[in-house]
Amino acid sequence: MESCIFCKIVKGELPSSKVYEDVDVFAFLDIKPVNPGHTLVIPKKHYVNVHDMPDEMVGKVAIAAKKVADAILKIGAKGVNIGTNNGKDAGQVVFHAHTHVMPRYGNDKFSLWVGKEYDGDERQEVAEKIRQSLNP
Ligand code: AMP
Ligand code: ZN
Repeated sequence: MESCIFCKIVKGELPSSKVYEDVDVFAFLDIKPVNPGHTLVIPKKHYVNVHDMPDEMVGKVAIAAKKVADAILKIGAKGVNIGTNNGKDAGQVVFHAHTHVMPRYGNDKFSLWVGKEYDGDERQEVAEKIRQSLNP
């Protein structure tokens, strides 16, 4: 992907603070970290997001993200959030698949989502829809 900034980072055409690399995966520091050490773990090959990736590659990125998370805990983080934003409406801004590995501390003021309540039978209904979508 010619214009993709993360492809350029993998190729060394744009600078990055690399923390990990193997045959398929590359990991580097996010330029706007939730906390110092916030890392992006990406497949070297261009995929738009998780829905575009073969399962095997999803596994490779997840294993590398866990390695990085373990390393971040070892240097002092108290917890780690691991997550991916898939699609514009889910907050994806860079359309080369990436997994965020975010160091956390009890007093870091980073807030996660607030859960809503289900209305009536909505919980059962949506569970049934997802079950059917998984097994059409
Ligand atoms: P997302 O919203 O999941 O697409 O997140 C994209 C992330 O990429 C953001 O957290 C940005 O701070 C980060 N980012 C964008 N450009 C760069 C770059 N050149 N080097 C490192 N991180 C970047
Ligand atoms: Zn790319």
